[in-house]
Amino acid sequence: MSQSTVALCFDFDAVSTWLHTFKAHHSPTKHSRGVFGAEVGSRRILDVLDEADVPSTWFVPGHTADSFPDAVEAVLSDGHAIQSHGWSHTNPSEYESKADERADLKRSLASLESLTGETPSGYRSPYWDFSRHTLELLQDLGFEWSSSLMGREFEPYYLRENWSADPDEPYDPGERTDVLEFPVSWYRDDWPALQFVMGASSQGPRPNEQAFFEAWRAQFDWMHEHVDGGIFTLTMHPQITGVAPRPEYLAELIDHMASKPDVTFRTLDSVAADIRS
Ligand SMILES: [Zn+2]
Repeated sequence: MSQSTVALCFDFDAVSTWLHTFKAHHSPTKHSRGVFGAEVGSRRILDVLDEADVPSTWFVPGHTADSFPDAVEAVLSDGHAIQSHGWSHTNPSEYESKADERADLKRSLASLESLTGETPSGYRSPYWDFSRHTLELLQDLGFEWSSSLMGREFEPYYLRENWSADPDEPYDPGERTDVLEFPVSWYRDDWPALQFVMGASSQGPRPNEQAFFEAWRAQFDWMHEHVDGGIFTLTMHPQITGVAPRPEYLAELIDHMASKPDVTFRTLDSVAADIRS
Protein backbone atom coordinates (compact mmCIF):
# COMPACT_ATOMS: atom_id res chain seq x y z
CA MET A 1 0.00 0.00 0.00
CA SER A 2 1.30 3.43 -0.83
CA GLN A 3 0.77 7.15 -0.48
CA SER A 4 -1.34 8.56 -3.32
CA THR A 5 -2.52 11.94 -4.57
CA VAL A 6 -5.77 12.52 -6.46
CA ALA A 7 -5.87 15.50 -8.83
CA LEU A 8 -9.43 15.98 -10.06
CA CYS A 9 -9.36 18.17 -13.17
CA PHE A 10 -12.19 19.82 -15.07
CA ASP A 11 -11.63 21.21 -18.55
CA PHE A 12 -14.18 24.02 -18.63
CA ASP A 13 -14.46 24.26 -22.41
CA ALA A 14 -18.12 25.38 -22.46
CA VAL A 15 -18.94 26.71 -25.96
CA SER A 16 -15.33 27.11 -27.12
CA THR A 17 -14.78 23.44 -27.91
CA TRP A 18 -17.65 23.41 -30.39
CA LEU A 19 -16.36 26.40 -32.34
CA HIS A 20 -13.02 24.87 -33.27
CA THR A 21 -13.42 21.11 -33.34
CA PHE A 22 -16.76 21.07 -35.04
CA LYS A 23 -16.77 24.49 -36.76
CA ALA A 24 -20.20 25.02 -35.23
CA HIS A 25 -20.26 28.81 -35.47
CA HIS A 26 -23.79 28.68 -36.82
CA SER A 27 -25.21 25.82 -34.75
CA PRO A 28 -27.08 27.05 -31.69
CA THR A 29 -27.76 23.41 -30.85
CA LYS A 30 -24.06 22.66 -30.48
CA HIS A 31 -23.50 25.95 -28.64
CA SER A 32 -26.21 24.91 -26.21
CA ARG A 33 -24.24 21.86 -25.11
CA GLY A 34 -21.51 24.20 -23.94
CA VAL A 35 -24.03 26.54 -22.33
CA PHE A 36 -25.37 23.54 -20.40
CA GLY A 37 -21.86 22.83 -19.14
CA ALA A 38 -21.36 26.43 -18.04
CA GLU A 39 -24.76 27.04 -16.48
CA VAL A 40 -25.84 23.61 -15.20
CA GLY A 41 -23.08 20.98 -15.38
CA SER A 42 -20.49 23.06 -13.53
CA ARG A 43 -22.94 23.75 -10.69
CA ARG A 44 -23.67 20.05 -10.28
CA ILE A 45 -19.95 19.26 -10.23
CA LEU A 46 -19.27 21.99 -7.66
CA ASP A 47 -22.02 20.55 -5.45
CA VAL A 48 -20.34 17.10 -5.56
CA LEU A 49 -16.94 18.59 -4.72
CA ASP A 50 -18.42 20.68 -1.93
CA GLU A 51 -20.19 17.68 -0.42
CA ALA A 52 -16.97 15.64 -0.54
CA ASP A 53 -14.91 18.64 0.62
CA VAL A 54 -12.15 18.07 -1.93
CA PRO A 55 -10.17 20.61 -4.02
CA SER A 56 -9.83 20.43 -7.80
CA THR A 57 -8.15 22.10 -10.76
CA TRP A 58 -10.18 23.77 -13.51
CA PHE A 59 -8.54 24.46 -16.87
CA VAL A 60 -10.51 27.40 -18.23
CA PRO A 61 -10.24 28.73 -21.79
CA GLY A 62 -10.26 32.53 -21.84
CA HIS A 63 -13.31 32.21 -24.11
CA THR A 64 -15.20 30.57 -21.23
CA ALA A 65 -13.98 33.12 -18.67
CA ASP A 66 -15.07 36.02 -20.89
CA SER A 67 -18.39 34.38 -21.89
CA PHE A 68 -19.49 32.94 -18.52
CA PRO A 69 -17.74 35.00 -15.82
CA ASP A 70 -20.33 34.16 -13.17
CA ALA A 71 -19.82 30.41 -13.66
CA VAL A 72 -16.03 30.76 -13.45
CA GLU A 73 -16.29 33.00 -10.39
CA ALA A 74 -18.39 30.29 -8.73
CA VAL A 75 -15.54 27.82 -9.27
CA LEU A 76 -13.11 30.29 -7.77
CA SER A 77 -15.29 31.20 -4.79
CA ASP A 78 -15.70 27.50 -3.97
CA GLY A 79 -11.92 27.37 -3.50
CA HIS A 80 -10.87 25.53 -6.64
CA ALA A 81 -7.80 26.37 -8.71
CA ILE A 82 -8.11 27.99 -12.15
CA GLN A 83 -5.41 27.40 -14.77
CA SER A 84 -4.88 28.15 -18.45
CA HIS A 85 -6.41 26.17 -21.31
CA GLY A 86 -5.59 28.73 -24.03
CA TRP A 87 -8.05 31.48 -24.97
CA SER A 88 -9.82 30.13 -28.03
CA HIS A 89 -9.37 26.37 -27.43
CA THR A 90 -7.49 26.07 -30.71
CA ASN A 91 -5.35 22.95 -31.16
CA PRO A 92 -1.80 24.35 -30.82
CA SER A 93 -0.65 22.41 -33.87
CA GLU A 94 -3.17 24.33 -35.99
CA TYR A 95 -1.83 27.85 -35.46
CA GLU A 96 -0.43 29.34 -38.62
CA SER A 97 2.47 30.94 -36.78
CA LYS A 98 4.30 31.03 -33.48
CA ALA A 99 3.10 34.62 -33.08
CA ASP A 100 -0.54 33.52 -33.36
CA GLU A 101 -0.04 30.84 -30.70
CA ARG A 102 1.71 33.30 -28.40
CA ALA A 103 -1.08 35.86 -28.84
CA ASP A 104 -3.74 33.31 -27.88
CA LEU A 105 -1.78 32.23 -24.79
CA LYS A 106 -1.24 35.84 -23.71
CA ARG A 107 -4.92 36.61 -24.24
CA SER A 108 -5.76 33.60 -22.05
CA LEU A 109 -3.53 34.92 -19.28
CA ALA A 110 -5.11 38.38 -19.50
CA SER A 111 -8.64 36.94 -19.28
CA LEU A 112 -7.89 34.75 -16.28
CA GLU A 113 -5.85 37.43 -14.49
CA SER A 114 -8.66 39.96 -14.82
CA LEU A 115 -11.16 37.46 -13.38
CA THR A 116 -9.09 35.85 -10.64
CA GLY A 117 -6.45 38.48 -9.86
CA GLU A 118 -3.78 35.80 -10.17
CA THR A 119 -1.45 34.61 -12.92
CA PRO A 120 -1.93 30.93 -13.79
CA SER A 121 1.14 28.79 -13.17
CA GLY A 122 -0.08 25.83 -15.24
CA TYR A 123 -1.31 25.04 -18.73
CA ARG A 124 -3.32 22.27 -20.28
CA SER A 125 -3.23 22.33 -24.06
CA PRO A 126 -6.49 22.00 -25.96
CA TYR A 127 -6.74 18.48 -27.43
CA TRP A 128 -3.60 17.63 -25.43
CA ASP A 129 -1.47 18.65 -28.38
CA PHE A 130 1.66 20.81 -28.64
CA SER A 131 3.01 22.64 -31.65
CA ARG A 132 6.77 22.82 -32.21
CA HIS A 133 6.65 26.16 -30.39
CA THR A 134 4.41 25.40 -27.41
CA LEU A 135 7.06 24.41 -24.89
CA GLU A 136 9.25 27.42 -25.74
CA LEU A 137 6.23 29.72 -25.40
CA LEU A 138 5.31 28.22 -22.03
CA GLN A 139 8.83 28.95 -20.79
CA ASP A 140 8.81 32.47 -22.24
CA LEU A 141 5.49 33.27 -20.58
CA GLY A 142 6.51 31.92 -17.20
CA PHE A 143 4.43 28.75 -16.98
CA GLU A 144 5.86 26.34 -14.42
CA TRP A 145 3.97 23.20 -15.31
CA SER A 146 1.78 21.52 -17.89
CA SER A 147 -0.77 18.72 -17.85
CA SER A 148 -1.01 17.73 -21.50
CA LEU A 149 1.37 14.89 -22.43
CA MET A 150 1.57 11.17 -21.80
CA GLY A 151 5.18 10.16 -21.12
CA ARG A 152 4.22 8.54 -17.80
CA GLU A 153 0.98 7.43 -16.23
CA PHE A 154 1.09 8.47 -12.58
CA GLU A 155 4.51 10.12 -12.09
CA PRO A 156 5.21 13.77 -12.94
CA TYR A 157 8.25 14.42 -15.10
CA TYR A 158 10.06 17.33 -16.76
CA LEU A 159 9.31 18.15 -20.40
CA ARG A 160 12.12 18.06 -22.94
CA GLU A 161 12.99 20.48 -25.73
CA ASN A 162 14.97 20.23 -28.96
CA TRP A 163 13.82 16.67 -29.56
CA SER A 164 14.10 15.09 -32.98
CA ALA A 165 11.58 12.68 -34.45
CA ASP A 166 12.80 12.06 -37.98
CA PRO A 167 11.08 8.82 -39.11
CA ASP A 168 14.34 7.64 -40.65
CA GLU A 169 16.45 8.26 -37.55
CA PRO A 170 16.37 7.01 -33.95
CA TYR A 171 14.16 9.15 -31.74
CA ASP A 172 16.10 11.83 -29.85
CA PRO A 173 14.16 12.94 -26.72
CA GLY A 174 16.11 16.23 -26.39
CA GLU A 175 17.09 18.07 -23.23
CA ARG A 176 15.22 18.47 -19.98
CA THR A 177 13.52 21.79 -19.22
CA ASP A 178 12.19 23.10 -15.91
CA VAL A 179 8.57 22.74 -17.03
CA LEU A 180 6.97 20.00 -14.97
CA GLU A 181 4.45 17.70 -16.62
CA PHE A 182 1.53 15.99 -14.88
CA PRO A 183 0.66 13.35 -17.47
CA VAL A 184 -2.86 12.83 -18.76
CA SER A 185 -4.50 9.82 -20.39
CA TRP A 186 -7.32 9.31 -22.85
CA TYR A 187 -8.36 6.45 -20.53
CA ARG A 188 -8.89 8.92 -17.70
CA ASP A 189 -10.96 11.40 -19.70
CA ASP A 190 -14.75 11.47 -19.97
CA TRP A 191 -14.85 12.82 -23.55
CA PRO A 192 -14.00 9.73 -25.68
CA ALA A 193 -16.58 7.43 -24.11
CA LEU A 194 -19.28 9.68 -22.73
CA GLN A 195 -19.66 12.58 -25.17
CA PHE A 196 -21.85 11.63 -28.12
CA VAL A 197 -21.11 13.63 -31.24
CA MET A 198 -23.16 12.86 -34.33
CA GLY A 199 -20.90 11.52 -37.09
CA ALA A 200 -17.63 11.77 -35.16
CA SER A 201 -15.12 9.26 -36.47
CA SER A 202 -13.87 8.53 -32.95
CA GLN A 203 -17.32 7.60 -31.69
CA GLY A 204 -17.31 4.22 -29.98
CA PRO A 205 -20.21 2.08 -28.80
CA ARG A 206 -22.32 3.48 -25.99
CA PRO A 207 -20.70 2.40 -22.70
CA ASN A 208 -22.29 1.19 -19.51
CA GLU A 209 -21.86 4.55 -17.79
CA GLN A 210 -21.58 3.24 -14.26
CA ALA A 211 -19.02 0.66 -15.41
CA PHE A 212 -17.04 3.48 -16.99
CA PHE A 213 -16.62 5.16 -13.60
CA GLU A 214 -15.86 1.75 -12.07
CA ALA A 215 -12.99 1.41 -14.57
CA TRP A 216 -11.54 4.63 -13.18
CA ARG A 217 -11.93 3.16 -9.70
CA ALA A 218 -9.95 0.06 -10.78
CA GLN A 219 -7.23 2.25 -12.34
CA PHE A 220 -6.95 4.21 -9.11
CA ASP A 221 -6.79 1.04 -7.02
CA TRP A 222 -3.97 -0.30 -9.23
CA MET A 223 -2.00 2.92 -8.86
CA HIS A 224 -2.53 2.96 -5.10
CA GLU A 225 -1.30 -0.61 -4.85
CA HIS A 226 1.68 -0.37 -7.18
CA VAL A 227 2.95 3.25 -7.43
CA ASP A 228 4.17 4.85 -4.24
CA GLY A 229 3.65 8.60 -4.48
CA GLY A 230 1.47 8.25 -7.57
CA ILE A 231 -0.70 11.12 -8.80
CA PHE A 232 -4.08 10.14 -10.22
CA THR A 233 -4.91 12.89 -12.70
CA LEU A 234 -8.49 12.60 -13.91
CA THR A 235 -9.91 14.80 -16.68
CA MET A 236 -13.61 15.61 -16.84
CA HIS A 237 -15.75 18.22 -18.55
CA PRO A 238 -18.72 19.89 -16.81
CA GLN A 239 -20.81 19.44 -19.97
CA ILE A 240 -20.15 15.67 -19.87
CA THR A 241 -19.76 14.52 -16.26
CA GLY A 242 -22.42 17.09 -15.32
CA VAL A 243 -25.05 15.07 -17.22
CA ALA A 244 -27.47 13.04 -15.05
CA PRO A 245 -26.80 10.76 -13.25
CA ARG A 246 -23.04 11.02 -13.68
CA PRO A 247 -22.51 13.46 -10.78
CA GLU A 248 -23.67 10.64 -8.53
CA TYR A 249 -21.12 8.26 -10.08
CA LEU A 250 -18.41 10.87 -9.55
CA ALA A 251 -19.43 11.26 -5.90
CA GLU A 252 -19.20 7.50 -5.43
CA LEU A 253 -15.76 7.42 -7.05
CA ILE A 254 -14.50 10.22 -4.79
CA ASP A 255 -15.89 8.43 -1.73
CA HIS A 256 -14.10 5.25 -2.77
CA MET A 257 -10.74 6.95 -3.29
CA ALA A 258 -11.07 8.92 -0.06
CA SER A 259 -11.79 5.72 1.86
CA LYS A 260 -8.33 4.33 1.06
CA PRO A 261 -5.46 4.94 3.47
CA ASP A 262 -2.88 7.64 2.73
CA VAL A 263 -4.82 9.35 -0.06
CA THR A 264 -4.78 13.14 -0.43
CA PHE A 265 -6.83 15.26 -2.84
CA ARG A 266 -4.83 18.24 -4.11
CA THR A 267 -4.71 20.91 -6.82
CA LEU A 268 -1.98 20.45 -9.38
CA ASP A 269 -0.43 23.87 -8.69
CA SER A 270 0.08 22.95 -5.04
CA VAL A 271 1.76 19.67 -6.01
CA ALA A 272 3.93 21.49 -8.58
CA ALA A 273 5.00 24.05 -5.99
CA ASP A 274 6.13 21.25 -3.66
CA ILE A 275 8.07 19.40 -6.34
CA ARG A 276 9.76 22.49 -7.76
CA SER A 277 10.70 23.97 -4.35
ZN1 LIG B 1 -10.60 21.46 -23.62
